[in-house]
Amino acid sequence: MRYKHVLAAVDVTEEAGQVLAMAREVADEHKAKLSILTVVKPLTHVYGGLDMVSYTQISVNFEEEAKAQAKVQVQAMAAEKGIGGDEVQVSVGSPVTQIVDSAERMGADLIVTGSHGKHGLGLMLGSTANGVLHRANCDVLTVRIKD
Ligand code: AMP
Repeated sequence: MRYKHVLAAVDVTEEAGQVLAMAREVADEHKAKLSILTVVKPLTHVYGGLDMVSYTQISVNFEEEAKAQAKVQVQAMAAEKGIGGDEVQVSVGSPVTQIVDSAERMGADLIVTGSHGKHGLGLMLGSTANGVLHRANCDVLTVRIKD
């Protein structure tokens, strides 16, 4: 079986490089299209519980600024792996929901994420990789992040 469209989901941390490298390798092997998605959490998530009703404009500005910054940073990491900047998409929301919905929308047949192998509370709360694994309709490849 050949994958046709690989979606790499990365946060804006150094570990993204490991996820991007694997996604690049698999996409090349399968001669598949490669897309990259990074999800910016909404301001209301960042300041959970804070009443944001009267701060709508601040919230919009914050999200636009956060999206622009995330795009530049992920494009730079992608460039290091030989991936063009046009492949990078940024959305706002819950990472798991955005990753799964975007994969469906773009017709991706493989999602690549990182995984930390969390224990205890982290495991109970569920990681992004775990959420994607359980909700995606396509295959999911998790890359165990090495320190
Ligand atoms: P986490 O479960 O948050 O430690 O993250 C595990 C993996 O999920 C990361 O290595 C990324 O592949 C993916 N991920 C986490 N947060 C995001 C995000 N905001 N946008 C896109 N992918 C993410």
